Amino acid sequence: MAAISNGHEASSFNIPPIKFTKLFINGQFVHSISGKEFETVDPRTEEVMTKIAEGGKEDIDVAVKAARVAFDDGPWPRMPGAERARIMMKWADLIDQNVEEIAALETIDGGKLYHYCKAFEIPAAASTLRYYAGAADKIHGEVLKASRELHAYTLLEPIGVVGHIIPWNFPTTMFLAKVSPALAAGCTMVLKPAEQTPLSALFYAHLSKLAGIPDGVLNVVPGFGPTAGAAISSHMDIDKVSFTGSTEVGREIMRAAANSNLKPVSLELGGKSPLIVFDDADVDKAAELALLGILFNKGEICVAGSRVLVQEGIYDEFEKKLVEKAKAWVVGDPFDPKVQQGPQVDKKQFEKILSYIEHGKREGATLLTGGKSVGNKGYYIEPTIFSNVKEDMIIVQDEIFGPVMALMKFKSIEDAIKSANNTKYGLASGIVTKSLDTANTVSRSIRAGIVWINCYFAFGNDIPYGGYKMSGFGRDFGLEALHKYLQVKSVVTPIYNSPW
Ligand code: NAD
Repeated sequence: MAAISNGHEASSFNIPPIKFTKLFINGQFVHSISGKEFETVDPRTEEVMTKIAEGGKEDIDVAVKAARVAFDDGPWPRMPGAERARIMMKWADLIDQNVEEIAALETIDGGKLYHYCKAFEIPAAASTLRYYAGAADKIHGEVLKASRELHAYTLLEPIGVVGHIIPWNFPTTMFLAKVSPALAAGCTMVLKPAEQTPLSALFYAHLSKLAGIPDGVLNVVPGFGPTAGAAISSHMDIDKVSFTGSTEVGREIMRAAANSNLKPVSLELGGKSPLIVFDDADVDKAAELALLGILFNKGEICVAGSRVLVQEGIYDEFEKKLVEKAKAWVVGDPFDPKVQQGPQVDKKQFEKILSYIEHGKREGATLLTGGKSVGNKGYYIEPTIFSNVKEDMIIVQDEIFGPVMALMKFKSIEDAIKSANNTKYGLASGIVTKSLDTANTVSRSIRAGIVWINCYFAFGNDIPYGGYKMSGFGRDFGLEALHKYLQVKSVVTPIYNSPW
């Protein structure tokens, strides 16, 4: 292994063989109709690991047909919610039992930290499945007293066949955040994982069959965006699309939905989230939080705290501590438990991040630390911090999706709010302060879907999560997400001889 910073040698890890490389349609692993395949590359080594069947429009058609039959005639939408819950719980248990193998797939496919995936991300995703399983038998409408002469009630019905399109940065979390509420609602579905990270999705499909999810209910079709992805968003027989990815592609999805059958879409898109640190903060803890806010998952996280705003009274001390901590951050083989940051997902992302860093230098920002790749093999990048940035700089406005922070100074609470909102995005935000007044004022003034006070990346199955502004609309997690996959039907009947 290459690319080690701070003296950590690569670990030797016994990587399990990749078992599933084909499309999962109607309960079977099948070749793509075209016979095409694409390579999947290990970002640690830049070597091709295996070839994956490449789904195209015609494969999506077959998968949608299977999902349609499973929805229109199959048992899943019709079975009692408690029975759906039992199967989902069993699937969650199987995920827990296979956690090591899935974690290894995530590491070789996406460069994610093995021990983090094993201890946190995968168990948390299994708990998401359990959370929605718990809701599956509690889906009900309301009885309405429409008028004296009418009796009415609402039914909550599954929306139908769902298309899920997900990105590569959290293949496990995204897969289960989309699939779990849709399954609980009684929907059937076709999911396209990102072309960079198809491995865990296929493994989950295999486990879903073992758990007893009926054939056709969950179909997984790896492939590329403009072909397989576009076939989902423009499909006439898909009833809803749930998408997570970039703002540009979100726009295309919406356009395709409008131009086909007007299917509703929910979009979880990009971000450029602010973390605001006030003068009364514990500087050491705040610097640690800020660093984690940008470096967690190598900055490949849509809610990354990529703009850090620090009040002038503590700015100098904060900057010093932040740079010290960034220099001590360990970049290297993500199988090594001492490593804190693995490689970026692929060559394209690696080059994109490095070109943003060059942009920052050219625009006149001060490079405090980092700025280069690490090693000569694998897509590793140093934790990078820019100061002296101006709000209109590209590195302050664009989502870089890598370990690159823009550090800024502010004077007053009003200045902080103004800067925080000076972005086209509105996904997340953070505040570090001991003052309840400051926390309350700022949290109500920030236009973003989540505000973390004295913490960052605090997620929970019951905490809805999604964007304001160009970060999209619709929520994952919480009961809000369940309702994305349900629709309301009103049933009305007259009451003759009403005594009222
Ligand atoms: P992307 O938009 O390029 O790809 C996301 C998915 O869309 C992939 O599966 C891709 O194949 C597919 N796709 C691409 N073009 C398509 C098209 N024309 N039609 C249909 N599908 C298409 O994004 P990415 O580079 O894979 O992921 C990074 C982006 O995702 C970042 O902008 C990040 O902020 C965003 N993201 C957002 C969240 C969130 O919850 N808001 C979570 C993770 C990632």
